[in-house]
This record gives sequence, C-alpha cells and structure tokens, in this order.
Amino acid sequence: MKRIAAFTLGILAALSAYAQTPNLRTEVFDMIDLDRPGMENVKKLHAEGQEAEAAEALLTYYKTRTGVRTPDIPDISKVKISEADKKMADEALEHTFFVHYGYQPSFNYGEDIDWKYWPVKDNELRWQLHRHKWFTPMGKAYKVTSDEKYAVEWTKQYIDWIRKNPYLDDNGLFAEGAGEGSLRPGLEGDKENMRFAWRPLEVSHRLQDQPQQFQLFIGSPAFTAEFLTEFLFNYHRHAEHIMSHYSKSGNHLLFEAQRMLYAGTFFPEFKRAATWRDSGIEILNREIGVQVYDDGAQYELCPHYHLAAINIFIKALEVADINGFRNSFPQSYIDTVEKMIMFYANISYPDYTNPCFSDAKLVSRKEMINNFRNWTKVFPENEAIRYWATEGREGKLPDNLSIAYKTSGFFVFRNGWDEKSVQMIVKAGPPAFWHCQPDNGTFEIWYNGKPLFQDSGAYVYAGDDEVMKWRNWFRQTSAHNTLTFNGKDIETTNSKTLLWQPEGNVQILVTENQSYAKLKHRRSVFFVDGKYFVIVDEAIGAAKGWVNLNYQMPRGKSTNSRETMHFNTEADNGCNMKLQCFGPEGMSMKKEEGWQSPKYMTKNKRIKASFNAKKEDGRPVRFITVIVPKEEPGDNPKITASFIDQNFNQNSLSLQVKVGKNKKKVLKYTL
Ligand code: MG
Repeated sequence: MKRIAAFTLGILAALSAYAQTPNLRTEVFDMIDLDRPGMENVKKLHAEGQEAEAAEALLTYYKTRTGVRTPDIPDISKVKISEADKKMADEALEHTFFVHYGYQPSFNYGEDIDWKYWPVKDNELRWQLHRHKWFTPMGKAYKVTSDEKYAVEWTKQYIDWIRKNPYLDDNGLFAEGAGEGSLRPGLEGDKENMRFAWRPLEVSHRLQDQPQQFQLFIGSPAFTAEFLTEFLFNYHRHAEHIMSHYSKSGNHLLFEAQRMLYAGTFFPEFKRAATWRDSGIEILNREIGVQVYDDGAQYELCPHYHLAAINIFIKALEVADINGFRNSFPQSYIDTVEKMIMFYANISYPDYTNPCFSDAKLVSRKEMINNFRNWTKVFPENEAIRYWATEGREGKLPDNLSIAYKTSGFFVFRNGWDEKSVQMIVKAGPPAFWHCQPDNGTFEIWYNGKPLFQDSGAYVYAGDDEVMKWRNWFRQTSAHNTLTFNGKDIETTNSKTLLWQPEGNVQILVTENQSYAKLKHRRSVFFVDGKYFVIVDEAIGAAKGWVNLNYQMPRGKSTNSRETMHFNTEADNGCNMKLQCFGPEGMSMKKEEGWQSPKYMTKNKRIKASFNAKKEDGRPVRFITVIVPKEEPGDNPKITASFIDQNFNQNSLSLQVKVGKNKKKVLKYTL
C-alpha cells in the first residue's frame, strides 16, 4: 500500500513543472527535546546516526500524539467543509489562490507558481498571498473526501513556498538552509519579496493556521517523514522570526503574541516552545493594559480592529483553557475583555452591524451572533452578552441608554435598543494611528432599521499611486460628517469633551478639537425628545478662508434645495431623514461625488454635500444643522432654527428650533 502511494506520488511529481521534493532536515533533532516522553525511539535512532529512521519514528510520534488541543479543530473526526472552502480548495489545485475577498475571482499564480506575482499593486494582495488561506480548506477537503490529490498538492505547494521565498537574515543574507544553495548573491527580488513573505503579521498567520493543516494532513502518505522535518524546521523558523521581529505596537503585535502562544502550545516538543508561549502570554498581559483604554476601547479607535482585538484576547483564553494554563491570565485581563465587548455592543446597532468609522468594514449579523455565542461561554454571568448571543431569547439588555466612552471619545445617544430606535454615535477622541482616520466630530445615525450618514469607510489600505488615490479619498476629513477648513484634512485629532449630558428630554454633547493651527471646531449635539438632532458647529480662531460643513448623504432618491439649504430623502424602506442647515449670510451648498464602502474594494456611490461659508476675520463662523429622522419619504417637516445668543460665547450657547408640529424648543447650556 505504502509502495503504491509512493509510486503514485512519484508520477504526480514528475508531471508537474514546479514539483518540489522535501529534504530530510536533520536540524530538527536539535530543535526538539528528545528527552520528552514518547521520544525515546527518535532519540535512540538519531544517536545511532539513523536519521531517516529517526524521522520515521518522529512521524509515528506525531501521528499518535494526544493531549494537545486547539479550539479550531475540537474533533478531527467531525471536520466539515463549506461550499466556499471547497471551491477554494479545488481552485487551489489549479494554482488559483484565494488571497483576498476584495479581489474576486481569484488570480491564477501559474503552473510553476510565481509567489511574486502581483496583479494589482495593493500591498494587501501581495502580503496576504503569504497567508495561504486556501491551505486549511485543502486540508478540510482532504479530510472530507479522503482524496489524496489535496494532500499531494498541499505538500508540494508547501515545499515550493519554502524554496521560492527564502528566508533572509537581518543583513539580507540567505539564512542557512533557506533554499537550494544559500548566500545567492544579488537577488534583489528576493530581498524585496522578504518584506511580503516574511512580514511578521503574515508569519504569525501561518503559525496559527499550520497546526490545523498539520492535523488535517498528517494521516496522508504524502505527509512523509522528510516532509515532517521540512515542516517542523520551517515552523520553528517562523516562531523564531517573530521572537526577534515582533511588531512594535497595535493590533499586529496582539495577533503575533496570540499566535506565538498558539505555536508554543501546539508544538510543546520544541525546546523553545515554553519561551514562545511565555512571550505571547507576557505580551498579551502587558498590551491589554497599553492598548485598551480604561473605558474599554482599543486605542486604534477603529471598530474593526477593536473587534479583532477582543477575539485575539478571547482566543488566547480558549487555548489556555483547553490546555490547562488559564491562570496565566489574571482577572483584570478577563474584566478588560468584558468591558471591550460591552463597548463594542454599545457602539453597534440593533441589527448587530457596526459604524464604519476608521478602517472598519460592515460585519454581518450572522458573524456577530457567532461572536456573542462564543463570548457568552467566557462570560456566562453577563446577561447582556447572553441576550445578544441568543437574539433576545435569554438574558437581558443593558440598563443604560445613552452612554459616553470619554477616554476614547465615543458617544452614543439612543432612545432604545430595538430596531425602531433612534441612535447616534459620535467619534471625537484622542490621537490614534494608522487605522484611525482624521474625522473628529463625525457621526453615524441609526433609525428604524437602517443607518443614516454612514461613515464612508476605508475601501482600500495601501499600495501604488492608484491605490493610494482611493485610500486618501476615503480617509480624508471631508468624506466624513464634520467640519473642514479650505477642504483640507484636519491637522490635529485630539478632541476634548466639554459637556456630556446623557439624561432627560434634551441630551447634550459638546466636544471641541483644535483641528487646525488657527481654527478650532466646537460641535454641540442636542438629542431632542428622543426624536431628532440639532448640531451646532462653531469654527473659532484667527484663520481666514472657507469653512466647510460636510455631510455624506444616504444613498438613493432625495430632493434638495439651495434656497432652504435642505436635503430630504425619499427611500421606501422606512428610513428617511430631512437635514436642514442654517448658516451665515452667503453660505453656499455644494454637491459632489461621494462614496460608501461596506467592505474592502467595494464602494457605492452617493452624494457628498457641504455647506460653505467664508470666514473673513477673527469672528467665529457658526452653523445650525437640524437632522430629523422620519419614516415617510413624502414627509417634509418645516424646520426653523436660530441662535438666541447672536454672538459666540466661550461658556454658553442658546438657540431655538421648531420642527414640524413639534413645539418650539429652546436649547441651551452653560459650561
Ligand atoms: Mg471614515
């Protein structure tokens, strides 16, 4: 049987142009603690110089090993495969690799795989190729079908990747054993490739996924003793690379740490395993204090990476739990994760979707319910998490309605928790970095089952000029619902909260940002009777030029008027709004092409509107915007609004507003 399989493998190898055969890597016998129970045979054979036999013994050890568990494959006999994964696995047989959902259909990387192929110069496309997302689906397809073609092809691709993506040390030299013939001179392409293939985030991704592939394929005849030694050597190099190249900060560091914990747990046979695991634990315990503000928000101020951080922390707990080292994480760690979940739930909408602030993508209801189901296992006492996990069948909603996260600068107005509710989320926080956008003061609204003024989102990250053009469009301040000066991005993002009044019929937020050297933006938001919003924007300072008040209009049909400076949407989905702006004499309205991106490389057209007023001197320019969410498209409530206090006052504000048949309201505060 074995001979037949080997014969078949030989034929398949001969047929393919890119066929790569694994070598016996005897270095692994130095990497593994041969004094561990179960290694007696390996140790003896290795000591006798019978390396091939020692490798066979090592393979037997791994095939029969028990006691090491991952949350990814709780029971190897119950592996299933989704349609999407099956497609990924089948396409991978032809070297059509699923690299990124934003680039579909997937690209083909050639019969003789070109790991440097870069059809669109988006860095993510080049980086994520090296995450090998199709490998685990191939493993599942193998497990489900028992068809050796998946295992044969996976081992070939695995070795091909090692050979063609040589590991260079920090001096740019080929590390020993990286490929056929080390220290090959002058291969600049390999140096450049190193930045992609061996970026620590990608390395950590493989560290996490390869234990799954290991479990799924180890039963195959294609998973030979030689292959095992190549696999272990490569895996060891991955973990060691992270040890000396951890990212400095942010979500990358969290991902890397959690995956090192994983690596050290899944391959405890390595002499360095405990060191890897401990470094992961140490970093997670440290970074949860550094990266999570006291209000529970992750410091990149992006819902997407906040959610990712929760799941990183949770995954570390799960691995610790099932492998018996939960006490490596103190109670404060667990409490912080719970706070992060409550933060995320509060800034999310009743349909489980999220605001698209910063580099956030729109999550799906299904994905979030799965998250809550997972989280409720870790926090069984938390009634709200249970409520969301069970879609309201069990547990109960939080007691709070409107709530502020003052350190991170997220403010939530809401009149309820069900889909009919009115909700506004304002983002006005401290400086953050890459994934955060210069958008202080911006907001999204939820009304009657849909979002209004959805954030433009991110669309794409980084790459060549064409990619950066789009990156910068979505990132720019004026693609948000906030104030700019001469259309330029705000220079400073460090909002101060001057007032937060979350109770009563008129709820108030006053936030201020020194957006430009000579221009401060003060935004006052009034949530009136749980029905509508009044926003006062004041541009304060010595700057002279054009002040722009930007609003991203909902997609679909709407009417607008330059006479009355209003927009009135006419959607037939029950989620409409009227926006009217009352500004200085001479204010003009401008309509431009706008976009909203719910996910990477997807964008939908809409209107980007701005109200523009000239700031002639040191006097502040002031606007009142009234936003009335409403159900009926034909409803066009008459709105009036004016300042009572005609001049800007540092410490107070008063205005009067009348909306449709509602009573006239006087809105005011004193700081
Ligand atoms: Mg944005």
